[in-house]
Parts: sequence; structure tokens; C-alpha cells
Amino acid sequence: MKLSASVSTLATAISTATLLTTLPIASSIAQASAPAFTIDDALEQQVIDWRRDIHQHPELGNQETRTAALIAEHLESLGLEVRTGVAETGVVAFLEGGKPGPTIALRADMDALPVEEKNDLPFASQATATYNGKQVPVMHACGHDTHVAMLLGAADALAEMKDQLRGNVLFVFQPAEEGVYEAESWGAEQMLAEGAFDEHPPEAVFGIHVVSSLHTGQLGYRAGPMLASSDTFEIDVTGSQTHGASPWNGVDPIVTASQIVTNAQSIVSRQVDIRTPSVLTFGIFEGGVRENIIPENVTLKGTLRNFDMDIRDQVFASLDRMATSTAEANGAHAEAHLHEGYPVTVNDPELVNAMLPVARELVGEEDLVEVPMTTAAEDFSYYAQEVPGMFINLGVTPPDENVADAAPNHSPHFFVDEAALKTGTELFVNMALRYPDQVDS
Ligand SMILES: [Zn+2]
Ligand SMILES: [Zn+2]
Repeated sequence: MKLSASVSTLATAISTATLLTTLPIASSIAQASAPAFTIDDALEQQVIDWRRDIHQHPELGNQETRTAALIAEHLESLGLEVRTGVAETGVVAFLEGGKPGPTIALRADMDALPVEEKNDLPFASQATATYNGKQVPVMHACGHDTHVAMLLGAADALAEMKDQLRGNVLFVFQPAEEGVYEAESWGAEQMLAEGAFDEHPPEAVFGIHVVSSLHTGQLGYRAGPMLASSDTFEIDVTGSQTHGASPWNGVDPIVTASQIVTNAQSIVSRQVDIRTPSVLTFGIFEGGVRENIIPENVTLKGTLRNFDMDIRDQVFASLDRMATSTAEANGAHAEAHLHEGYPVTVNDPELVNAMLPVARELVGEEDLVEVPMTTAAEDFSYYAQEVPGMFINLGVTPPDENVADAAPNHSPHFFVDEAALKTGTELFVNMALRYPDQVDS
């Protein structure tokens, strides 16, 4: 591919400290002296074509064989060292730069969701697949098709200029970010367990996620916790079954479980430091088979969302205590179990400070938005537990549409303005090109 900016124009690095202390002036200097690398029209079109192809052929978690084959074939054609079959369908590729320097990782997720596409597009998905034993429609309703396409585009651009590249780039294409119902472990955690970072350990990791909550080409960043941890819990309440007409002959687990649900409402509101938000939600209350029988058991299930793992532990410990003591007060018995999900996605503050100027140079001050913490979760968090990480949101809602009205990620109407793909591809490339200078590696 032809590239529209030469690497030499990127070489001038502005000291991060200067940018951070005197932002308005330094930022305009940075824009003048270190123009961001941009891709040409041909590569932009190629990225869009890849995205449409993958969008039309979405695959569920751990089933991304077609997508992985497309990725591996292109990366091999670029001369990269490619490893396939990592964590089922994952692809890891290594690009060695012409000049010695640090290795960084760029990550994309490949999986789609059991959602029926409702967009009227020529490349709309009509795919189906088996999910939990059922035949379901499949759609890239979280935009992971764009992540793959943008990272392929970045690999293309970086391979083209590898002689001038200082340091190396590890491309990580992972399956199953959305989870796999029947698997023990999947996605990022499994990629790391199977050595995705072992052969060429990166010094930092970057990921991009498209979001409907920002306009096309806007970038959303946040230092520190950005996305919540996501754990599920189960509370098994055991009473003593009896006739509904004579409750004194048994122990009622429905009343006990109701009190547990009510009592648990005071955990977040009364027992947890409000400066770090927590969510405790019951989603399942299951028990009984007939109106006039007090059942033996009730099962409660729910989700915990937190931005600090110590607070997560504290919330669960309170829930456990509340459940067991409430049951005991009723002469019943309760056991609480925590099923750990994705940890908190934490962006390394120093890495964010160092790399933010690069994002700013690319999109300008106005389109660089500090986003609030959100209670969704991401398995990018596992990579960011290994090495400093930076996860960035990329807006895909067209400029003439109100973001509040845009269909959110996971909706059958989730829509991507493809003009944003150029920005995302360029962000990946610029992060790789500028990292050594920005962090003084
Ligand atoms: Zn998602
Ligand atoms: Zn996603």
C-alpha cells in the first residue's frame, strides 16, 4: 500500500511532560511539529472491504475459523511471523521493526453475538450458528468486525514501513470476548494461558472499541479504571418443604430469600465507600412448583459490577454474611458462591499520559473526550493486568445523529459509520510508531 506520510515527519517527539503541564500551547506545537501518520485512500477502502466481508460472515466465540483464516492469510502475505490456533481460533503475529526498540501489542477481538441484524445494508448478516444447542442468528452487534479490519489495516501500513519502525509490534487477534457459555475459559484469559505474550513479551498493550456513544472519529479515553469487573453470584437457600396451608410445619425459603434480596440493598448504599461505585443486581429468583406448596429450595442469582477488586471482595463478603445470617434468623440455611468474571479494565495512568498527545495529534483537542467509567466489562482487562494497557473508545455514530438516540452496542440496529475506520486504523499505527519516543524507551 502507498502511504501518505513519511516516517521521518513522525520522528520529532515532544516531551510528554511539556505537553501535560502546558497543554494548550504545547498541543498546537505538537500538531505542527509531529503530524500524525495517515493512511491513503486505497488502504482505507481495503479496511472497509475487510470490515464488510467480516460483517457479512460473523462467527460466534471460539467459532471464528473463517475470520481467523482471513487474518492469518493476510498477515502471512505481509511477511509476519504468524501463530494460529491460539485459544481455539486466535491469531498472534509478530512484526520486527528495522530499528531496535520495545515491543508493543495491539489487540482486536473477532467474535460476533447471537443477535439478528435489523440494519438494511447490502452486507447485512444473514448468518446463523449453534449457541447453547440452539440455532440462532448471528451479527457483529458489538463492532468487533471493525476491530479486526482496523488492526489488519494497521498491520498492512506498519509492515510497509517496517524498515523505519523503531521496535516491534505484536498483533493479537483473540476469539470470544463476549464469552462462551459452555467453556471453562476463553478469550483473552485463554490467549495469555496459551502464551500469546510469551515469545515476544510486549511492554504495553493497546486496544480500541467502537462505541455508539461518541460521534464518528471521536476518541474516548480514561486514565485508571474505565470498565467494571463483572462477576456473577449464586445464593442457594434451603428451607423445609411443607403444605402452603400450614407454614408453621416447615421453613419457608421464599420468605427467607425475599428478605435476603431486601437486606442486600443496604450493602452498596450503607457499607461500601461511595467514591468507588458498585452495582449489585439480582436477576434470577427461582423456586417452587405449585401455589400451595412451600418449596424446599430457592436459588438467587445476580451480577456484581465494580471498579476496584478489593471492593468487589468486600461486597461479596457482605452479601455472603447477609445471606447466611438472614437465613439463620429464619431457621433456614443459605450458601453464597461467587463466580469470577472479567476483572476491572484499568488504563495505566502513566501510559495514558504518555500516549494521549498521539491521540490528540490525530483527531485534535475537540474530538478527544474523557469518558466516564461504565459498568460494562471487557476482557482486555487481562492483558492490562500483565503489562500497562490503554483501551480507547472510537465513536461510530454519524455526525448528524444524536448519540443519545443511536442504537447501542449489542442492539440489532447497532450501526457503524465506516468513516471512523480510518481514524481507528491510524490510531493503531500512530501508537506503534510513536510509543518508543513518548515513553523514552
Ligand atoms: Zn460486546
Ligand atoms: Zn465488544
